[in-house]
Amino acid sequence: MKEMIFPLPDGRKLLIRPEALEKMRKYRQLQKKDTEAGGILIGRILFESNDFIIDNVSEPMFSDIRKRAYFKRKPAAHQAYFDTEWAASDGRCFYLGEWHTHPETIPHPSIVDMTDWNRIMNLSFESDYLFFVIVGTQGTKVWGADRDNERIIELRGEKNYE
Ligand SMILES: [Zn+2]
Repeated sequence: MKEMIFPLPDGRKLLIRPEALEKMRKYRQLQKKDTEAGGILIGRILFESNDFIIDNVSEPMFSDIRKRAYFKRKPAAHQAYFDTEWAASDGRCFYLGEWHTHPETIPHPSIVDMTDWNRIMNLSFESDYLFFVIVGTQGTKVWGADRDNERIIELRGEKNYE
């Protein structure tokens, strides 16, 4: 699997590494009984270019609520995973957003998703941008939240579909 690259409106780039994509796409809801999955995006902000790289993601935890068309992430277990990764990277990784799956071919954010993303965007984080990934059964889409301008837009990469 190749990485995904998305240009941001301000000229920077977002790159999602193949390992992170693989981890998310493993949870595609291909079967009728498959429930939504999700987690957090973990990555780096490059020195000089300020480009973003998503290196890793957390996977669904036992405490999360997973239904056919509903996912609720309980923060504690994902935070513990992040803390371990943070320590292993000597404090060089950041929380960069959220991902979850949808039981539809090409994913669209629900009203609940938009409300949640707007809430998260206004919390306090180091990064001026956050990202929200939805993994459908055929396409994976990414939205970028520009926190300074309080704006969320869909990012269009070269390759949103497999
Ligand atoms: Zn959703």
